[in-house]
Amino acid sequence: FKPVVALVGRPNVGKSTLFNRLTRSRAALVADYSGLTRDRHYGEGRVGDYPFLVIDTGGFEPVAKTGILKEMARQTEQAIAESDVVIFLVDARAGVNAHDHEIARMLRRAGPKVVLAVNKAEGMNSGQASAEFHELGLGTPHPISSAHGDGVVDLIEEALSQL
Ligand code: GDP
Ligand code: MG
Repeated sequence: FKPVVALVGRPNVGKSTLFNRLTRSRAALVADYSGLTRDRHYGEGRVGDYPFLVIDTGGFEPVAKTGILKEMARQTEQAIAESDVVIFLVDARAGVNAHDHEIARMLRRAGPKVVLAVNKAEGMNSGQASAEFHELGLGTPHPISSAHGDGVVDLIEEALSQL
């Protein structure tokens, strides 16, 4: 049994950056801008002796602004269906927004195992980085930095310990 971990979250929270760190590959395309065509990517990660599969759900096609919510919902539903545990990423610097709330609502309703990751938290006090994300109703927020690696091993251990 190799657990499947899906990365979900609105565009630009750092899903592909985390995917790259977990899989140590350039398989997922990291972009400094939104709107680029990005496919769904699958990779293999490992923490200590524990291998797992990771899905980057970043395949947001360039869509009209009105289409983003629908596309996010589709990607999130697919991720829930395909995975054993979901890592829901939000952005510590941007704070909570309406798209985060929409994804959180879907996750609360569908009820998969979820770990909430507050990305881009490097250099921030962890309590301060986490504070406003409790309101998403998905448990303890885990501050991480996908770019620098802070908190990433603990996050994966937390996700795998749910199984
Ligand atoms: P995705 O759309 O969710 O896949 O997000 P990306 O992985 O493409 O990242 C979006 C932007 O956030 C890029 O400019 C990344 O370099 C940046 N980013 C990702 N992780 C971090 C992080 O931990 N800290 C900071 N400061 N920026 C990050
Ligand atoms: Mg991406």
